[in-house]
Amino acid sequence: MDEDWLDIDGSRGEGGGQILRSSLTLSLVTGRPIRLLQIRAGRERPGLQPQHLMAVEAAARVGNAAVSGATLGSRELEFRPQAVVGGVYDFQIRTAGSATLVLQTVLPALSLAREASRVIVSGGTHNPFAPPCDFLQSVYLPLFNRLGPEVTLRLERHGFYPAGGGRIVAEIKPSPVLRGFDLLERGEVGEQEVRAIVSRLPLEIAQREVATALAELNWPARSGRVEEVGSNGPGNVVWAKLVAAGCSELLTEFGKRGLRAEQVARRLAASVREYLAHDAPVGEHLADQWLLPLGLAVWQSGQSHVYRAAPLSLHATTHLEILELFLGVTGEVALSADGSTVTVRLRAGKAEPRVPPQIVNP
Ligand code: ATP
Repeated sequence: MDEDWLDIDGSRGEGGGQILRSSLTLSLVTGRPIRLLQIRAGRERPGLQPQHLMAVEAAARVGNAAVSGATLGSRELEFRPQAVVGGVYDFQIRTAGSATLVLQTVLPALSLAREASRVIVSGGTHNPFAPPCDFLQSVYLPLFNRLGPEVTLRLERHGFYPAGGGRIVAEIKPSPVLRGFDLLERGEVGEQEVRAIVSRLPLEIAQREVATALAELNWPARSGRVEEVGSNGPGNVVWAKLVAAGCSELLTEFGKRGLRAEQVARRLAASVREYLAHDAPVGEHLADQWLLPLGLAVWQSGQSHVYRAAPLSLHATTHLEILELFLGVTGEVALSADGSTVTVRLRAGKAEPRVPPQIVNP
């Protein structure tokens, strides 16, 4: 058996799709072949579902990988990438599977490639349990771009569960080196907005959501906005955006049958209050998503970096485990009354900064 292979137990941590996607990402960047076992063992419908299969296919295309086990429901996968090549990629998830999660799978590797890329992903753009497109645009990408690459994201069509059919387009100008930074202060919150979006549903739902959220948060009427969009099926999302100098946040709730618009808005307001109750800049979801790009920056430069975040989720601790496996990068978490301080550094005795193989051997 080839010693190079890294075996990853997909039942670790929350045993969901993220360990699969992040392993694909890190396999692409490091060139290390992987064998994933017990894929999504912690989920009701275990194994590869359409969104995960598309993440595998997307990673295989950008990294010219040899793959086995990439079938619906499969619980085992072998993935052996070659060099990552930038270019124009079009990935179509035929369900409402999350387009943003597929984009996040290939983004770090394409951001380190030699060539610029355009990545088009069709599917769900606003899904519960995944970053909505607006989150990537307002929260994730501004920080990601501070590392060096220039990535812009356009939402061309909304896609809601279960109809899907949305479309996002990312333009990626790569940077051969990711330059890390610390993220300790949120800074003053400047712009704040509540926006409710409906597709094929009465606009009145969005109006009630915005009115309730603004009243709950004591925000002025000018901070609210309603939007009616075209999409393949009905959908309703409401989000609150807080723009700050150090780090922004975007909190989301989805309307669903049987849940009154006012209840949806009250849930949103509660999560905004929770975020503002502590002064850590990095919110719960960003705390897990930021680990991977920051870990890569630390791996490349050998320099440690720190961020302050809300209490870490299981997703974040799973990410810490796989950063260590692939990159020899560790995350030390110090807990305090107002959250966690995460220090990301190269493991002692392994202080050799690295560059991705596609940059060394184009
Ligand atoms: P599974 O289908 O196995 O449950 P999945 O593939 O849908 O898993 P998860 O493993 O649950 O995905 O990972 C979801 C990712 O989406 C996490 O990185 C999480 O932080 C992010 N996420 C979920 N909800 C939001 C949100 N409201 N805003 C931003 N990011 C979010």
